[in-house]
Amino acid sequence: MRFGQSPVDRHQRAGIGMTSARTRQRLVKQLQKNGVSHPQVLQVMGSTPRHLFLDQALSHRAYEDSALPIGHNQTLSRPYTVARMSELLLRSCKAQKVLEVGTGSGYQTSILAQLVPRLFTIERIEPLLNRARQRLQDMGINNVVYRHGDGYAGWLDREPFDGILVTAAPAEVPKALQWQLAEGGCMIIPVGTGEQHLLKITRSGNYFAKEKVESANFVPLVNGTIG
Ligand code: SAH
Repeated sequence: MRFGQSPVDRHQRAGIGMTSARTRQRLVKQLQKNGVSHPQVLQVMGSTPRHLFLDQALSHRAYEDSALPIGHNQTLSRPYTVARMSELLLRSCKAQKVLEVGTGSGYQTSILAQLVPRLFTIERIEPLLNRARQRLQDMGINNVVYRHGDGYAGWLDREPFDGILVTAAPAEVPKALQWQLAEGGCMIIPVGTGEQHLLKITRSGNYFAKEKVESANFVPLVNGTIG
């Protein structure tokens, strides 16, 4: 997708957008300063209107590099985190068919959907999922399949996935998720209670190579569903 031609930009031009391209470019500069370097990730971060994922009362803070509340005790991930996880995924495996666990507001979903051909996303809180689905449909993003469910179990009837990206932190890597990776597939997941680390896991046969990437700060991955 070329800069300036995404469905999101068409949406912006239709007058729904309320913050300037310049504000988003400042965010892109900040991301680069923090070490994000993948060109497509930076381009998509710069063209996606993050304020559409927030309540109006918070939308003026949308382009700060910070996590913000989205209701139900959950947060919209920090732009740095979204960009970093996306570039790790794209650089670590072929990422044609990807599973996201923890749709939340749909912001990370909207970024990933512009970077990979097929995306599956699971959220345990149904009202959040419904709102995210509506937002992405309004933005003209239609390569995403949504599911209300418990991401600990993954998505059995859609596996295997080239890539899995988890946006909430379990105490340990869920085994079911590991086994839903395709050969050579990779998972980007925060793990830990208290102190958390972002892990990159790569599948090779029945072996899962684990690499600590950096420290992390996510809401916990929780069992069961709501709604
Ligand atoms: N990336 C999202 C924010 C994620 S916050 C965004 O950009 O808005 C983490 C999300 O994971 C929350 O919405 C939370 O409800 C969800 N979650 C937590 N445990 C889950 C589970 N077991 N299965 C699916 N979703 C889960």
